[in-house]
Amino acid sequence: MSHDAHSIFEERKDQVLRKGEKPYRMTCDKDSLAGAVSQRACVFCGSRVVLYPIADAVHLVHGPIGCAAYTWDIRGALSSGPELHRLSFSTDLQEKDVIFGGEEKLTKALVELIDRHDPKAAFVYSTCIVGIIGDDLEAVCRKVAREKNIPVIPVQSEGFKGNKRAGYHAACKAMFQLVGTGDIQGLSPLSINILGDFNLAGEIWIIREYFQRMGIRVIANITGDGRVDDLRRAHGAALNVVQCAGSTMDLAQMMEEKFGIPSLRVSYFGVEDMAESLYSVARFFENHDPQIMERTRQLVRDELSILYPRLQEYRKALTGKKAAIYVGGAFKAFSLVKAFRLLGMSVVLVGSQTGTEQDYRELHEITDDGTIIVDDSNPLELSSFLKEKDVDIFVGGVKERPIAYKLGVGFCDHNHERKEPLEGFIGMLNFAREVHTSVMSPVWRFVPRRTRALGAAGLMG
Ligand code: SF4
Repeated sequence: MSHDAHSIFEERKDQVLRKGEKPYRMTCDKDSLAGAVSQRACVFCGSRVVLYPIADAVHLVHGPIGCAAYTWDIRGALSSGPELHRLSFSTDLQEKDVIFGGEEKLTKALVELIDRHDPKAAFVYSTCIVGIIGDDLEAVCRKVAREKNIPVIPVQSEGFKGNKRAGYHAACKAMFQLVGTGDIQGLSPLSINILGDFNLAGEIWIIREYFQRMGIRVIANITGDGRVDDLRRAHGAALNVVQCAGSTMDLAQMMEEKFGIPSLRVSYFGVEDMAESLYSVARFFENHDPQIMERTRQLVRDELSILYPRLQEYRKALTGKKAAIYVGGAFKAFSLVKAFRLLGMSVVLVGSQTGTEQDYRELHEITDDGTIIVDDSNPLELSSFLKEKDVDIFVGGVKERPIAYKLGVGFCDHNHERKEPLEGFIGMLNFAREVHTSVMSPVWRFVPRRTRALGAAGLMG
């Protein structure tokens, strides 16, 4: 019987691949298998994750209170100014509202919130039940926007209408309503928007500082430490620099179509990808500023001279250890595979919630033979792969953490709950330190999977 016989549902066979066992072929970007308890979040969650870091807007979840569980507390985007995004608002729909409609309640909630908090804009998220009862979100938003004279933007994110990627698209459509409505006079020709960075643990500040040292001005953070007025002026930038392409590439495409702004795909994780991201932006502006490439090279040299000696120490201890990766967006998986390689470790499992055909093909190219590549996985599969590969560390997010801990496997949070910056050159060092501390901890000798092995070898009393 094959090793996958009990861990992969028949219907999901095409979404799992063991590199080297058969030619590349993977299915992805389809609805999750009902009952498989996918790790993937719903459409609403996809929208919420992209939009909530806009710190001077009210974010109102129109639905039952349960949907509002995605709060700032588990998704900690930092702000350098207003912190309205840290408050969670819900219309708390009850049975009565489901029967008679929730539009009146929504209108009242919006008016009260705008009066109380004086936001620059309001985003109103639709949830499953709102899609079912058919509240006219657009009409309510239009009415309140007229009355209060601020943008009130409906986010059509009914949880059931697709997968998390549909939520990203709904968020991009919502933001696009703001882009192009602000004054762009006097903006520098060497200017960019940063897309797909959510300023977890202050990461966007690190990246902004790099761009500043290169002589580039950042117009809008989309959306970490984001502001409504910056979004309105985002069409004044010369370039969109897009990380986490799954979540914000749709917005970049809309901006390219309407305003002619090109975009670049980047990743700020790991040494190689961080440096290449800065170089690719420098190449874009070289015609405007011939010195920019030299400034960028100097920046990378300065950062690496601090980083490398310290990385070597971690590498010595970690060489030969095994890592598993399961993340939301595949861009992060690419960078993590490279980052682990830099630390001398091998990646034996890699997967994502929202990877595309192109993403998985790329993962297939950069991973070693025997690596399991998986799309839209679930706890049953992940547990069985982790056990089979006997990994030393699992990198994931809030939903993967309990899987690792139950199996007695070290865990590194690389998702929205992290409290330590992992982007940029300094982020690579933080990552290496965290991986080293977790993997080398003596505690793993005493977890059940290891004590059994030691017992069998007669090494435990
Ligand atoms: S929108 Fe639907 S799927 Fe998403 S949290 Fe709410 S009820 Fe659940």
